[in-house]
Parts: sequence; C-alpha cells; structure tokens
Amino acid sequence: MEIEVLQLGMLQTNCYLVWGSGSSCVVIDPGDQAYRVQEALEKLEKTPDAILLTHGHFDHVGAVRDLVAEYACPVYLCQEDLALPPRMTGGELYCTHNYQEGDKLSLAGLRFAVLHTPGHTPGCVCLQCEDALFTGDTLFAGTIGRTDLPGSSQEKMAQSLKRLTQIPENYRIFPGHGEDSTLDEEKRSNPYL
Ligand SMILES: [Zn+2]
Repeated sequence: MEIEVLQLGMLQTNCYLVWGSGSSCVVIDPGDQAYRVQEALEKLEKTPDAILLTHGHFDHVGAVRDLVAEYACPVYLCQEDLALPPRMTGGELYCTHNYQEGDKLSLAGLRFAVLHTPGHTPGCVCLQCEDALFTGDTLFAGTIGRTDLPGSSQEKMAQSLKRLTQIPENYRIFPGHGEDSTLDEEKRSNPYL
C-alpha cells in the first residue's frame, strides 16, 4: 500500500491518496483545492476509483464536486452526516454511496473496512486498510476532534474512542489534520484515550 498526503485549504486538512496495485487510487477527504489533488494524481499517473469521506464537514469535502466533474468517480459518505446543517458542510453534501459500520470496499487493489465512529459528527467513520487506520477528525496525534459543534456528541465520542482503544492491532494512524501516529503511541500518550 502506498500513501501520499496533501494538506489542503485554510484548515490544512490531510487528503490521502492511497493505492495498491494498478493505475487507480482512492482519494480520502479532498477538502479543498481540487487542482492540487488533480496535479498530484497526474504526477502519480493514477485515476481515482473512489472518493472516501471520513465525515461531511466542509474542510473535508470541499473539492468533491470538482473532482467528480473531472473523474466521474463514486463518492462514499456515511448517511448520518447528511443531516448536518449546511454551515458545517459548506452546502449540500454530494455522495453516490452511503457506507456504514462493517462495510468492506475493494478499491484500487486494496480492501477498506468501515468503522462507524460517531462523536465529532454523527456520521464519522474510520477507514482501515492493511496496517493503516484513517481516523478523520475522530482521533489525532495527541488529541481528538471537537465535540462542541452542531451534530457532535461527547457521549458518542467517548464510546467511539473506547472502541478504538480496544483494537489489538497497532495500526498506523492517519488523521484528518496534523501528523500521523500509531495506535499504540496514542494509547500510551493521548490524554483522551
Ligand atoms: Zn470535522
């Protein structure tokens, strides 16, 4: 599995390009600046099999429509985020597929498993692929996502974090903002876990 990261937009959201074998890849959270995603794809000679969204906040979805216009690829989002207020999403959310807890997706020569981890938003997911866990705004290196926003739930976040701490594998963590980490490191040093 190969992973390339781009930091996009005002909030420096991590957008991950992920691929296995072949000429396609997956784009996780294209938050802004579609032209930069497109430049990276062209340089890598990859076309997107799909766009996977960890949640529906505007800083994670901002480049979706432009990339779909270019590549006509499917877009996956957990349907519970469709209820978020438009000011949190930057307007009406666009997706072609709703994914949920336990779904398995075969894309770009890789297999992704969907973990529903509500709290930051009702439809937050973490995406597990091989030894990587893309955690969106649920878990960051050293901290966690905000739970004081419309649609957030501290109680659900606590349950989701508990669930992540019960994962035995030491996955590499690729969050929605900031540096990457590992699950063991976060269990050791993240005060919120
Ligand atoms: Zn967010």
